[in-house]
Amino acid sequence: MENKLRIGWIGLGNMGMPMATNLLKAGYPVTIYNRSREKENILIAAGAISAQNPATVLANADIVITMLSNDAAVKAVFEGPEGLLSKDAENHQGKLLIDMSTVAPATSRYLSSITEKSGLAFLEAPVSGSVKPAQDGTLLILVGGSPENYEKAKPLFEVLGKMSLLLGGPGFGSSAKLANNYLLGLQIQGLAEAVLFAQKNGISPENMLTIINEGALGNGLSKLKTSSILQEQFPAAFALKHLVKDLGLAKDAGLETVLSNPLISSFKEANDQGLGEEDVMAIIKSIKI
Ligand code: NAP
Repeated sequence: MENKLRIGWIGLGNMGMPMATNLLKAGYPVTIYNRSREKENILIAAGAISAQNPATVLANADIVITMLSNDAAVKAVFEGPEGLLSKDAENHQGKLLIDMSTVAPATSRYLSSITEKSGLAFLEAPVSGSVKPAQDGTLLILVGGSPENYEKAKPLFEVLGKMSLLLGGPGFGSSAKLANNYLLGLQIQGLAEAVLFAQKNGISPENMLTIINEGALGNGLSKLKTSSILQEQFPAAFALKHLVKDLGLAKDAGLETVLSNPLISSFKEANDQGLGEEDVMAIIKSIKI
């Protein structure tokens, strides 16, 4: 039987598409909106309803989830002329808006305050995990907001993820997410440098990756990225430009360590070389040893 809670979904990129698909598969009625309208077609064929703009998504839903590129995109969808909080938002008192994009903690606090001023409820819920966990419904969901709103969202988080954690008020989820992505950057950079250094001394990437993956240093990430490195193909699961954004947000949020500045420069340089739309692992193409 169909679940009664009506879901709105805005943002059908690499992450939003599989996540919204999982809610549809779980039986939720889902109304969708994506800026590039053609990306909606697959979900419409799977039973989703298309709305003309974010305000219409809200009119058709009890809970609206956004999964968008960056702070500017989320602000445009909340505050734009046909945005979630445009003029008739007061007719939707008590509805819940959940932003699952990775944005600055300050942006989450701002979104929370403008949403609540309009009489709606807000949660931030950025995720750890890339496209495969999004497809499998095994994301780790990092929540900031009130316990009451968290309880309302929990049935959806159980479809989208293997675990959700309420970390504090708005901003706490984003802060945890940025710390996690700092470590992601360090690990990707380290893996690339180790493979290239070994290669410089005659060790094949294949042998080096076997040594890493079979030893204590192998982890989910090194195993996930091994085939990309060996095939020298980097289709975006997590686009490099998004990590550049996240490292910048982390710096703005106070990250100032020995490794943070060179790491940020390295990923910025790769982005400037045109690798932004490729996967984060494409950093290996821009590192000189
Ligand atoms: P993506 O594939 O680049 O998709 C971005 C989405 O945002 C698209 O739907 C895009 O619409 C929309 N968008 C961008 N600017 C917009 C604007 N001004 N107004 C309205 N819509 C706009 O990104 P993604 O990989 O799905 O990531 C989404 C978020 O999750 C990001 O914050 C990212 O950092 C975070 N994240 C990603 C991963 C990952 O592995 N990919 C993992 C964890 C967290 P169009 O289709 O029209 O371009």
